[in-house]
Amino acid sequence: MRLVIVGAGFAGMYAALSAARLRDIEGVSPEELDIALVSPEPVLVIRPRLYEPKPETLTAPLQEVFDAVNVTYVQGSVEAIDTNACTVGIRDAKGEQKSFQYHRLVIATGSRLFRPNIPGLAEYGFSVDNIDDAKALDRHLKELAKLPASAARDTVVVAGAGFTGIEAATEMPSRLRALFGEDAGTRVIMVERGGAVAPDMGEEARPIIEAALRELGVETRVEAGVASLDRSGVTLSTGEHIEAMTVIWAAGMRANPLTTTIPGERDKSDRLLVDACLRVPTVPGVFATGDAARAACDGNGNYALMSCQHATRMGAFAGNNAAAELLNVPMRPYHQEAYVTCLDLGEAGALFTRGWDRKVEMVGETAKATKREINTVWIYPPMPERAAALASADPEQVTKL
Ligand SMILES: Cc1cc2nc3c(=O)[nH]c(=O)nc-3n(C[C@H](O)[C@H](O)[C@H](O)COP(=O)(O)OP(=O)(O)OC[C@H]3O[C@@H](n4cnc5c(N)ncnc54)[C@H](O)[C@@H]3O)c2cc1C
Repeated sequence: MRLVIVGAGFAGMYAALSAARLRDIEGVSPEELDIALVSPEPVLVIRPRLYEPKPETLTAPLQEVFDAVNVTYVQGSVEAIDTNACTVGIRDAKGEQKSFQYHRLVIATGSRLFRPNIPGLAEYGFSVDNIDDAKALDRHLKELAKLPASAARDTVVVAGAGFTGIEAATEMPSRLRALFGEDAGTRVIMVERGGAVAPDMGEEARPIIEAALRELGVETRVEAGVASLDRSGVTLSTGEHIEAMTVIWAAGMRANPLTTTIPGERDKSDRLLVDACLRVPTVPGVFATGDAARAACDGNGNYALMSCQHATRMGAFAGNNAAAELLNVPMRPYHQEAYVTCLDLGEAGALFTRGWDRKVEMVGETAKATKREINTVWIYPPMPERAAALASADPEQVTKL
């Protein structure tokens, strides 16, 4: 029997570990149940940190962790899924194609930034969505440092004032000063189509974010969209033109397009709708998890967000349940009642809220210490040691906050 997991993000990694944990508990050998994970590289990309400098350091190795728990790592990208024949078509790094049979499949292919068809965006827009884009932005900023100071060189526009946009914008003043010098006339401007920054953060948290932006000198333009980009900068829907050689697009995510090849229902972000055990109801044997799935977190109408926090725990439940179906033991319905947000605010500290109504629990340096702990310890893979790695993937314990 073979369980195939597609994707080595937070969800895929925990799906593999959790399936291996259940296999171990049930006393089943890796020969009887092969757990195979397919991804382009055997690394976890630490996506939540990609707004930081040195993005090339923001991956963690996975091969040793998988070896420690007898998970078969398969290098490549899944290009096609045949849910009738129960096969995945994989293209490896050399361009060679192979087909892999599965008995259960977990789709954990994550999400990617959605870039609308705005003139100039594809050519001139940067992002912090994936490691290649983050490296390209970092290289670009270092190249700018070699140019003479000018309004365009010294100005960064961040489009989208959600979580990612805020973290990218609030990190930028110190990042620019380090590159352009303390006295450079740097400007960071956030552009938001809605009526306020941090549209999802609520009335208690938003003033804290707005105060942080003021403290850092980050300007905002609300009720303004990006109309076009060109070499000189960006033109907003309000008619304002901002000279800027750096425009970071941080508005809107979609599930990885592989989800569209599964004959199941999807939400407006292309996430597959899943049942309580994270199965795609219309396709036997297929589970979806992490950013690729829309799952209810509780009985109160809350649904998992595209977040590391949800992806990690959803991954552990999906892997456990896919293995449980094969081993004929009861599955565990996914549930995640606790929800926190920890938003980095650059040199202005951080903001920690608890609950779906986002009650502010910590601000400033205290919240920043927690953010550091989350970003440098909690979200990293477990040690490549069998017992510890298996124990880390108990679905009921993963991201218990
Ligand atoms: C800048 C930034 C800041 C963020 N900050 C936070 C935060 O503070 N808190 C938080 O909770 N979340 C945050 N997030 C969101 C978080 O990173 C994602 O929700 C999380 O990475 C989702 O995990 P995942 O495993 O579902 O997908 P991903 O981490 O995207 O992993 C997907 C995996 O699938 C692989 N893959 C994709 N396509 C294929 C294919 N065809 N074949 C094989 N493999 C494939 C990829 O290579 C990757 O290994 C942030 C994201 C960004 C970009």
